[in-house]
Amino acid sequence: MVIVMSANVIQREVDQVLDALCAVGRDGIVARGAGRTVIGVGGKLEDAAVQRISSMPGVACVIRVNAPYKLVAQQHNSSRSSVAVGDAVIGPDTATLIAGPCAVETPDQTLLAAHMAKSAGATLLRGGAYKPRTSPYAFQGLGERGLAILAEVGAELGMPVVTEVVDARDVDVVAAQADMLQIGTRNMANFGLLEAVGRAGKPVLLKRGMTATIEEWLLAAEYIAKQGNLDIVLCERGIRTFEPATRNTLDVSAVPVAQRLSHLPVIVDPSHSGGRRDLVVPLTRAALAAGADGVIVDVHPHPETARCDGPQALVDSDLAELETAVREMAAVMNRRIPVPATSVADRMEPALGLRL
Ligand code: PEP
Ligand code: MN
Repeated sequence: MVIVMSANVIQREVDQVLDALCAVGRDGIVARGAGRTVIGVGGKLEDAAVQRISSMPGVACVIRVNAPYKLVAQQHNSSRSSVAVGDAVIGPDTATLIAGPCAVETPDQTLLAAHMAKSAGATLLRGGAYKPRTSPYAFQGLGERGLAILAEVGAELGMPVVTEVVDARDVDVVAAQADMLQIGTRNMANFGLLEAVGRAGKPVLLKRGMTATIEEWLLAAEYIAKQGNLDIVLCERGIRTFEPATRNTLDVSAVPVAQRLSHLPVIVDPSHSGGRRDLVVPLTRAALAAGADGVIVDVHPHPETARCDGPQALVDSDLAELETAVREMAAVMNRRIPVPATSVADRMEPALGLRL
């Protein structure tokens, strides 16, 4: 069962519900997101206990959730969640663009890519410092140095940053530098890592495993939520099919399906799904038309030299088309485009040569 607390609940009221659960031999799991506090309870409560708890101060309602995932289920909230990341927001009212390099390679490359991202309207900067590569011989990312570069570039441009964490031992280090933690497709079912990011106190971007069902993906989100964190954004990034023309097949239907099953925002990665630059804009349009709350896109100033995923990175001359696609689709879908924050860098020429 899920106990939904009212929007203005105070801690004392949460504690009173936990005490009431304790009195009937149950533990409650408290999970919080922007404007939302819910308490999950395993199993079914007696009718008398449901009635008593329903009338307690701060309780909005008590709902029996049939789905195997509870805290992230749509059933207990008909209004969709928003997730705030610094000044950026991902939710039902906006079409949010996240963009940046696949991997942080150098300070200059990251700064140029960040300017590209911002000029296309991105309000969040992406960039991998820890890269989960299929081959152990491929570039694995700059690690802590990459995190520092990304954080400095993000601060310079006034953009919060999202970056992947691949190992539970790195969660604290990544959380200290990043505004949002990304779980990649290869780690969607790494349950220890999911629990560790759930405890990190930062919003989480959870990509769908490339061979995961939607239910498995939502159960992965539940692992994070069960640690108390409901600030989770789901990301459809393509699944493995028999089709070799694209890197993965973008499962557009996963967007409305996940949104019907869960209250969490759902975005799409048209770069990693198609794996081809020429498909990024059409897939962006498709994603937003299907109701996605945003897209996350790779950009690179010189993709021919990129150490990771160059063929899918948009270049300068693609950005106007990307910006137009997001703006037009947002208008069609009745969504607002968040305005990128102004920053020191906006008031100057893009100056290369960061302090790093
Ligand atoms: C990424 O976004 O950098 C990435 C590795 O994506 P995915 O996990 O979807 O392959
Ligand atoms: Mn990549």
